[in-house]
Order: sequence, then structure tokens, then C-alpha cells
Amino acid sequence: MPGTTTLERITELRDRIDYHNHRYYVLDDPEVSDAQYDDLMRELRRIEAEHPELVTPDSPTQRVGAEPLEGFTQAEHPVPLLSLGNAFDEEEFLAWHARVSGLLEESQFDMVCELKLDGLAVALTYEDGLLTRGATRGNGVVGEDVTSNMRTVRSIPLRVPAAAPSRFEVRGEVIFPKSAFEAFNEQRIADGLPPYAHPRNTAAGSVRQLDPRMTAERPLDIFVYTLGYAEPMEFDTHWQSIEALSRLGFKINPHSSLVRTPDEALDYCRTWVEGWEDLDYGCDGVVVKVNRFDYQRHLGVVGREPRWAIAYKFPATQATTQLRKIKVNVGRTGSINPYAVLEPVNINGVTVRQATLHNADYIATKDLRIGDWVVVERAGEVIPQVVSSVVSKRTGNERPFKMPEACPSCVEPVVRAEGEAAHICVNAACPAQLVRLLEHFVSKGAMDIEGLGIKQTTVLLEKGLIRQVADLYTLKKEDLLELERFGETSVANLLSAIEASKERPFSRVLVAVGIQHVGGEVAELLARHFPNIDALMNASQEDLEAIQSIGPKIAEAVVAYFANESNRAVIDKLREVGVTMESEQAEETVEQVLDGLRFVVTGRLERFSRSEITGRIKDLGGAVSGSVSKKTDYLVAGEDAGSKLADAEKLDVPVITEDGFLDLVASRSGES
Ligand SMILES: [Zn+2]
Repeated sequence: MPGTTTLERITELRDRIDYHNHRYYVLDDPEVSDAQYDDLMRELRRIEAEHPELVTPDSPTQRVGAEPLEGFTQAEHPVPLLSLGNAFDEEEFLAWHARVSGLLEESQFDMVCELKLDGLAVALTYEDGLLTRGATRGNGVVGEDVTSNMRTVRSIPLRVPAAAPSRFEVRGEVIFPKSAFEAFNEQRIADGLPPYAHPRNTAAGSVRQLDPRMTAERPLDIFVYTLGYAEPMEFDTHWQSIEALSRLGFKINPHSSLVRTPDEALDYCRTWVEGWEDLDYGCDGVVVKVNRFDYQRHLGVVGREPRWAIAYKFPATQATTQLRKIKVNVGRTGSINPYAVLEPVNINGVTVRQATLHNADYIATKDLRIGDWVVVERAGEVIPQVVSSVVSKRTGNERPFKMPEACPSCVEPVVRAEGEAAHICVNAACPAQLVRLLEHFVSKGAMDIEGLGIKQTTVLLEKGLIRQVADLYTLKKEDLLELERFGETSVANLLSAIEASKERPFSRVLVAVGIQHVGGEVAELLARHFPNIDALMNASQEDLEAIQSIGPKIAEAVVAYFANESNRAVIDKLREVGVTMESEQAEETVEQVLDGLRFVVTGRLERFSRSEITGRIKDLGGAVSGSVSKKTDYLVAGEDAGSKLADAEKLDVPVITEDGFLDLVASRSGES
């Protein structure tokens, strides 16, 4: 007999899961992240596995999703839409593979790896060549009839060729592409409407719009990932059926892959754990399916989960926590940047305490208030962001944020130029700005001077030893030794690091001085086009815009930087002390020998950094894109090339090495 505490815990878990299910599936307004939800579900599954006698038919583990909403006709699924078991790490995936191997009595069997898209699952029925029904997944057995809304999704075929089975159903994920979502939100803001928080929730809300005309205005998209059923059924494997669906005009995700071994499957998962962030849609994992249908039938379904498939989940990128305070700091260009001080929360193994809030508009349009529960996202190396507030958790004690009227560093008034998002401290002598600029100046991608942290630079500023960045080069040993935090050895090291930084290439100097919009890539372009600082300083807006991939915004920022007297003083002093102010080899005139060619670059290169080769291709008139398509002319592949290489081979796109690239440039230079 299990103790009452076990029973209490089970009841509590079920209540909480039901509550969050309702918020997520019915209201499209989740309060917790998927990871937090998964944790609850896993605990419940674990306890129920230990105490099977406590499993009841109404337990959340016994159903797939949510109840249909009122207002739509119910749509029964002839073949239920199953849910998937999860693997949260490689070990769990290998355990699944071993289990399947045992049941099949086969050590190797083909599997199909597919990205698990973060959208809304739908089932589309076709009869005699026509789309007759579109239904949401609902609880897997009964969904909602959203046929008229599905008809508005451009990537869903309304009719299919005669070669199609007379009656069949496909299943897919409706998504709101990230790029379209951003543009859609910009338009909403321009129209004075609040922006939407999350593409997935907006896609779900759009599919369930009662007015199909509203749905039609949303740029929804779909990837079809499986054949639900077909009469007659003519396929032996999942891969075959997917290829057939592609031929029938369905949109199939181009990154799906047929693999043979568990290692290959895990390679696929590893590639996409970070790789998905470059895609135009959200993914939260990889689905691995046993390919052969006879194997699938043999393996069968346990409860609601097929034994022949598993979802390999990516580490979570979002969590919910409390926004305790909103503080501001001063950027190196004087912008006053609000940021969130959070109740510390763990996201994917990292404790997040702060998140960016960008500017006052961002806070206002998202209606973020001090004391709110908020959804925080941390993806890759990007600074964590506050995505949205959880309005349903408000108690009434939350306070709106007000931008300070004075700079927190120099107490000068803060101004906001018309049409600009940022509030600015315009005081050129503002110490906070100089600290930030110094921090940037000495950073790795700039002058790369070790030994100068924020604490040291603050001391140097307070003592008046530094009034502008170039003063670094006239620091004296005896002055430094008198300061706290500066010992004999560290001073010697610092001075030699400063001396060595004079040799940094011109492009790095251009990064270091902190011209707005001029990062590594732009700086390299400038250094290639202008032989020295004087040529650059004398360049007009038009001269700059004439350079491929330099737009008006960058050109304007460069001209504005050099027009400023105190900036010119910095440049003069840097030149005086011997910092590099000339390009190594300025290319005279660059022939556009790659004009009209589209490149994709992947893998680790030996001769070029990624930004160097990208800059080179663009300089020569070529274009660079992030993913391989039929329009790609060449894939330049280095070591450890991953899925892009596979994509190129699939699409017959020529693959060349770095040397091949140089040969290509040389041969085309010769022929013109
Ligand atoms: Zn200030």
C-alpha cells in the first residue's frame, strides 16, 4: 500500500498538470515553460510507474492533450494522433534504441530523423483528390474542425494529383515563421496595436480563429511530417511515404534525414541542438522514427505512445520567474538601457539573474511591470531576454516602469530624439560611457588588451589618468603603481599588453574606437576599401554606400563619428602613439567576378574566418545565405561540415573546399 503522501502528491501533480494543460492547450496562454511542465509530467509518470494501481483513466498521462474549444465543430480522428515518449539525453535515446533492437531482434534498422517543430499539429484529410477536412489534434482522438482556416494556409494544397490514394490523411505542424512574425509585429506596432509574444502561440491562435478571414491575414506555414492513413496503402516505409507526399505537393521539411545507426541519429540531434536557432521557425527537439511500417506495427503502441518513435528533446531555452526590479545602465554610445533583475532561475544549466529589456518602448509594448511573473528566454550565447509577462499571475501590486530623467552615472538629463527608441545621455564626458567604451576597446575582438577589467578602468577614471580611450597609451608605470589594485607584475604585464596592441590590424582599431554599427565584419570591409584612416575620414556618405553590403545606416554612422571633434582627437592621439592606421593590403579595384553566384559556407575553415570569407564573397559580388537550397551555386565546406553538406548532396549543389573556392575566384578573374 502506498502511503497517503504518495496519493496526495499524485493528486497535486494531476491538478497542476491539468491546470497548465488548460492554459497551454485551451487558452494558449501558458504560465510555465515547457521544461517546467515536462518536469511535472515526468514526476507523475515515475510515481505512476511505481504504483500502477493508482493510475486512473482521467490521469493526464492517459490523454494526449486538451478538450476542444467551444465554437468549433468536433472532428473525430479515424486514427488517433499519438503523443511521443521523450529522451532528455543521449543515454535515454540509446536505451530506447536498445529496447527497440531487442523487440525487433535486429541490431540495426533504418530510422528517420525529423526536426520537432514548435507549432500546432493538424490532420488534413483528402478524398478523391480534394482537401475535405482540416482538424486540430485536440486530445488526439477528437480535435476541432478548422477546415476553412486550413484552406487559407498557402502551403496546404487544396487538391492533389490523381496519383494520390483515393482517401488519405496527412499530419503536419502549422507554424508562424520567425521572420514573418517579426514583420507582422512591426506592422502591428505601426498600427498602434500591441505586438504578439510568441510565434507558436500566435500560430495556434490563428488556426483557431473563428473568422477565417483573420487567419488568412496571418502568414502561416506548414510542414507535413507523416501520413496518417491511406486507402489504398501502398508504402512499405515512412521515408517512402514522405517522399511520395512531397511529390504530391506537400511541404516536407528539407532537413529530414534517413539514418542507419544510433550514432548517426545522435549526430543529427547534436547538429540541431544549436543549429535550429538559425532556422526560420522554432524547434524543441528531434523525432526519431523506425522507418519500416511492418516494424512499426510489430512494435505497436503502449498507452498513448508508439514504441517505434521517440522525441529527443533539446535543452530548454525558456523559464518563468519573477521580475524583481528594472534597473538601467549606460551604454558606450550613451544609450540608457533598461534591464531586468530577476529572481534567479535555471535555464538549461545556467542560472539567469538578469535579462535585457532593450528600451522603454519594449517594456511598454510588452506591458512588463515590476513584480510581474515573466517568461525568460536564453538561447545560445545571446543575452537572456524577457519574452512576455504572465498576466494571469498578477496580484495588483505590480508597478509600471518609468524611465529615469537623469543619467544614473553623471546625473545629466536624459534625452530622447524624435523617432529613436533609445533614451540617451548626451554628456560626452559621462564616466559610465567611457567605462563601457574602454571595456569594448580592450576586448578580444578589438585591441585585445588583457588585465583591464571594469574595476581597474573605474579607478583610472576616478584618478583622472584617463579622459579618453587613447590615454591608455600614455599611462606611466609610476602613476599606476600608486593605485590600489595595481601591483608591480600586473602593471608590467598591462603596459606590455598595451604596447603590443599597437600592432593590431587597422580593421581591429576601427572596431575598437566604437563607431556605431561597425563590428568586425564591417570594419574588415572598410579596411579593405580604404588604405588608411585619412582616406576613411575623408569618405563621403556616397563613397561609403558605394561599397557592397554597406547601407545608409552604417555610412551615416561612420560619417557622423568622424565629424565629431572629440572623436577626431581620439584618432589623432592613437595615430600619434603609433597605433596601426593603415590597411595591410588595400585592394585597388575589386572585380565582381562572383557576380550572381550564391554561396553557403559551412564547417571549420583553415584559411579564412567565417566573416573573412563572407566578406570576400560579397566584395567579389557574390551572395551568401545561411542554408542550402536549389538556388545555391556552391557550398564551401571545411572540416566537420554537418547537415548543410548533406543538404547540398541531396540537392546536387556543387561542394568545394577553400582551395576550390580560391581556384574558382582565380579562374573567373582570368576569364574576364
Ligand atoms: Zn551620463
